[in-house]
Amino acid sequence: MNTIVMKFGGTSVAGIEKINNIAGIVSKELKKNKIIVVLSAMAGETNKLQGYLNQFKSSNSIESDLVLTSGEQVTIGLLSAALKNLGIKSIPLLGWQIPIITDENFEKAKILKIDRKRISEYFKDNDVIVLAGFQGINLNGNITSLGRGGSDTTAVAIASAIKAERCDIYTDVDGVYTTDPNIEKKAKKINKVSYEEMLEMSSTGAKVLHTRSVELAMKNNLTLQVLSSLTKKVGTFVVSEKELIEKEIVSGVSYSKNEAKVTISGILDKPGISAKIFSLMNENNINVDMIVQNISQDGVSANITFTVNQKDCDLANTVLDQSKDILNYRSISSDKNVAKISVIGMGMMSQSGVAEKMFKTLAHNQINILAISTSEIKISVLIDKKHTNIAVKSLHEVYNL
Ligand code: ADP
Ligand code: ASP
Ligand code: MG
Repeated sequence: MNTIVMKFGGTSVAGIEKINNIAGIVSKELKKNKIIVVLSAMAGETNKLQGYLNQFKSSNSIESDLVLTSGEQVTIGLLSAALKNLGIKSIPLLGWQIPIITDENFEKAKILKIDRKRISEYFKDNDVIVLAGFQGINLNGNITSLGRGGSDTTAVAIASAIKAERCDIYTDVDGVYTTDPNIEKKAKKINKVSYEEMLEMSSTGAKVLHTRSVELAMKNNLTLQVLSSLTKKVGTFVVSEKELIEKEIVSGVSYSKNEAKVTISGILDKPGISAKIFSLMNENNINVDMIVQNISQDGVSANITFTVNQKDCDLANTVLDQSKDILNYRSISSDKNVAKISVIGMGMMSQSGVAEKMFKTLAHNQINILAISTSEIKISVLIDKKHTNIAVKSLHEVYNL
């Protein structure tokens, strides 16, 4: 018998009616397969828990992950009860019961190991395992979380560990679209997208899949399907590049409002300064994305601007503040009112003119570019947050998506 993994996101489990709906979907698949269901907390629940935590200085701690991961405990218990009501043999499990072993980084832990043996044992007496997404346990025995949106990663990791036949990610849209369908009604559903493109889309803000879930699926060559728990439509398949017949020049536009821009002004323009700044960020586990450096008018000092996740902005400022004597800069400033807009497409590798079109379109809409970064298949720009919607819509149109 095959095993498939079905992951349901927050909106799909928000309330008893929806949980009963999932029990129905699971029972249909059960005729041919053993199933691992991975669940998120009910929509809004993790935000609510984060709100409680914000009342204390508790980020990246034992407490924060213990609290943040608690919403999933509720949904797995309820779904397992709903399945048992239908006469299905099911067991609800938390991350530590598998166990899903992670590293020690609270709030952004990485999975190190999953014990497959235990899964086969649970399947001896059960047809369905209902597993809490988003959580694991570190080697000190503390509960960790995989970062917001991390249930997708739990699903892909478990599917890879057991070499599942399929991994279906059920959400509130019926697939991956050319841009977020909630901000551009003209967005179109994509039938197949490559791992590489999906990775760029996710990492630049398309939260329909957690970035690390795509990375893991690509590494393990696991096909993902993104589909809706409310319709019966076939979803979007995330596959290897070989399986794509046509490579679009631009296949999607994404945006992220979670960015913050940090500028260090009046720093010496000499070897080793950037190395010092970015090792400080690395030591503090702060991920840096775009980087721009320019020489100031005196020709001796320089300014460095970089972007970090908004959540890390205050920490980045503190770290730089504490290192003022070593770095010897004039001033630092930061701005959270920025957004990153990206265009992504495999065909970009062999076509010129994509950047020109992007910059012209933004200029035409009077949108100033604050920073630029590129990869072989992506161009990202940083702009003022208030222009996000108009930038996404006009780029979506200009590339005929
Ligand atoms: P879940 O709770 O099921 O994990 P998420 O809210 O994390 O769902 O992800 C689904 C959301 O992703 C959609 O409602 C949509 O607004 C957003 N999204 C952003 N970019 C895209 C895209 N390119 N295609 C589809 N959805 C997208
Ligand atoms: N409940 C977690 C969150 O809201 C994990 C997830 O939904 O994937 O981030
Ligand atoms: Mg999600």
